[in-house]
Parts: sequence; structure tokens; C-alpha cells
Amino acid sequence: MDWRTFIEAMPGVVYRLRKSPDGYYSFPYISPLVADWFGVSATTLKDNAAPLLTMIHPNDVDPLIAASDRAAIDNTDWSYEFRMLKPSGETVWLEAYNHSRARADGSLEWTGYLNDISERKRLERELAVSELRFRTFVENANDIIYTVSAEGELTYLSPNWEKLLGYSVSASLSKPFTDFVHPDDVGRCYRFLESVLAEDHKYESVEYRVRHRAGHWQWHTSTASMVTEADGSTKYYLGIARDVTTQKKQMEKIAKMAQHDMLTELPNRTYFGEILEHNISRATRKNRALAVLFIDLDKFKPVNDSHGHAIGDELLIAVAGRLRKCLRAGDVACRAGGDEFIALLNDLDPQDQTLNFASMIAERIRAELADPFDIEDLHLSVTASIGIASFPHHAQQLGDLLRAADQAMYVAKNEGRNCVRMAQTEANDSSA
Ligand code: GH3
Ligand code: MG
Repeated sequence: MDWRTFIEAMPGVVYRLRKSPDGYYSFPYISPLVADWFGVSATTLKDNAAPLLTMIHPNDVDPLIAASDRAAIDNTDWSYEFRMLKPSGETVWLEAYNHSRARADGSLEWTGYLNDISERKRLERELAVSELRFRTFVENANDIIYTVSAEGELTYLSPNWEKLLGYSVSASLSKPFTDFVHPDDVGRCYRFLESVLAEDHKYESVEYRVRHRAGHWQWHTSTASMVTEADGSTKYYLGIARDVTTQKKQMEKIAKMAQHDMLTELPNRTYFGEILEHNISRATRKNRALAVLFIDLDKFKPVNDSHGHAIGDELLIAVAGRLRKCLRAGDVACRAGGDEFIALLNDLDPQDQTLNFASMIAERIRAELADPFDIEDLHLSVTASIGIASFPHHAQQLGDLLRAADQAMYVAKNEGRNCVRMAQTEANDSSA
């Protein structure tokens, strides 16, 4: 194959450009493809390069000429990216590769190759735009965007890290993420990352506590995915974490509301049932005893009738407070409804006068309630009827135990109120 055929089969334009000492440009050779690209024939350009050179983008023409002159004077190989405007109005990006030299007669000559790099430039621009868009998203998002290496080191943190947690980003990078996560939550975070790695999607997200620089804990939730570099060499986790402390607190409040009586803030009957169940199981395992006290205020309705419901409410709140005062740290009081309360005396010694101890607490409650309550400008007195039942003496099951205490309370009511009665057993026949 001759050289001309070879050159003309190439996808770019091959040329030799000459600049005479008086600044006149010509193309001693330019491949015919130039006519397809720019609508000017190689024959025209042979004597006068101007029809093509005038198509160089106005912003690129001076730097291009300056750079190519310098390359020729220095006799260096050289490449340059620039734009040209086609007669159709379309702008194309070209890259020129040159062997440049200055001739003895003072003319300059460039022998080289023109490549259309418009597509590459378009992709570069798109990448830059999408990177800019991504960076804008990352830096303005309310969330923390992070990367963690396979070894668990923080390798990228978006600016929100500092905004939400107070640590500077640069001081936190390269540290293990476990430096910031609550010790009790680290295991859960590792299990989550393992599931991301295994791609079994066992966990959609993970919730954990992160320490704020000021020392308090924030709840965060995070999703993550595994990223593998194009060459397959590096793997890391890319995650988005969100501060959910407020939502978490609200959820806790809602959960608490579901378990507590709104008026007295004591556990409600349902929640008390769960606590009691749990404690019966524990007492069974540990061979311990416990006692349940049913406490119903005497003649409470007349308080409402004489002073109004609001005063009745205040009295119930005050009774709850006094009840709490009579119990030990591990004991629990609940408001079962209306003017009825239940107390659980926990972890008692079954051999050691459990019933006596329960009776003593019940008497303490009675004495405590006997002290008049100052509500607004009233001095209100209240008494209570109390029934006691004990595990394992009176019943072994939750329902039986509550029923036994309730019945004992009714006995107290029937026997004149303001007194304490013990549940009945086969051995113990309704005595207090
Ligand atoms: P007894 O000695 O037989 O227990 O009579 P009592 O008047 O205490 O009446 P009972 O225990 O049968 O009923 C409880 C009353 O408590 C009924 C109702 O008027 C009142 N009550 C129930 N819930 C509330 C409440 O949330 N606030 C107020 N202020 N009163 C309540
Ligand atoms: Mg009552």
C-alpha cells in the first residue's frame, strides 16, 4: 500500500502546515477528509490555509498560534486542544498532534494529525456537570454522606458531619467508625456492614447512637452499599446517615404513653401486667417470692362530687406520689383505672416472712394516705382498702395472683374499708 492510500484511510486529518516568514499560511499537504469535515478542499488549502484557519474558534485562535509558533521555534513535539466552527454552525473540538520545526529560511512547519475529540469533550463535560451536581447534592444534603473502608476507617465525610456532630471532618478521617458509635451498637453496625457485603439485604438500614463532640448521644439511621473500584482493587462502603434523634424521642414518648397512665404517669394496667409476668418468671427461676397489693381509695366519688373532677384528678396524682414513696427501688406501682392502684413488691425471700413484709408495706401506704393532702386551699383526707396476694403462697399464675389480690381488697371493703386484707389460701383462712 502506498503512503497516500494509507494516510487517506485514517480517521483523522493528516497535514503539513507551513507559515512563511511573512506570516502567510499554506497546507503543502492535507488529507482530503478535510473537505468532508469543513467543506474546503485540500486543493484550495494547498496555496492558502486561510479558509480553514478562519474557522478556528475566535477565543482559541491567538493562544493556538502562540503555542504552535513556540513549539516550532523550540523544535518540539506538541499537542493542543481547540475548537473550530464548521460552516454549518456546529462547533467541534479537535486535538492537533504535531512535529514542529523552524526551517533555515525562517518559515515554520508543523506535520501532524487532527483528531475529532468532540465526543470525548462532551463526555468530560457531562462528567464534570454530574460531578458538580453530585457534589452539590452531597454538600447540601441534610444527611451525612460517608465512605468507610473495608477495614472500617472513615475515608470520606460530607460537611454535615461537622454540622451535626461537631467534629472537624479532617480530624475524623482515617479513624475507625467505632470511635464514634456507642459500644452497645457497634456489633449491630458490623452485622449490617456484613449483610451489605454479602448483598443478602438482610438489613435495609441500621440504627445506632453516635457521640456528639459535646458528649451527648444522637440516634442515627444509615443505609449503605458496597462500591468496587473499576479495576476491582478497592472495595468500600458508601453510606447515607440521618439524624433521627427527634423521631426516636417522639417514638419513645408514644411508646411510653401507650404504657403509662396519662394522669399519674404510673404504668397502666396492661404494662403492669407485662412487668408482673416478667417478674413472676424471674421469681420462679430464682426461687424468690413477690407480693401484689390492690389499693382502692374509699369513698372517692364524693371527693369529685363535692370539689369537682379537677380536684379529684389532683388528688389521684398526689396519691400516686405517696404510693411511690412507700415502695423500694425495684418495686412498681401502677394505676389500674379510676381510683384503683396496684403495687408489686419484688424479689422477696419466700422463707422469710414475705406476708409480714407485704402487710407492713400496706400499712405504711395506709398511714401515708391518712396524712391530709393540701390541694389548692383544701385539706383532703383519703383512706384506702388494700388486698394482698403473694407468689408463690397464694397463686402461681399472673391472672390468679391478681384475682386473689382483688378479692382480698373486696373483703377489706366489705369489712368496713380503711383496712388491709390478705388473700386466702387453704392453710390461711382470710386473715390479715
Ligand atoms: P368505694 O369506697 O366503694 O371504692 O367507693 P368510691 O366512691 O371510691 O367509688 P369507686 O371506687 O367504685 O369508683 C371510683 C370513682 O372514681 C368513680 C369515678 O367517679 C372516680 N374516677 C374514676 N376515674 C377518675 C379520674 O380519672 N378522675 C377523677 N377525678 N375521678 C375519677
Ligand atoms: Mg374507690
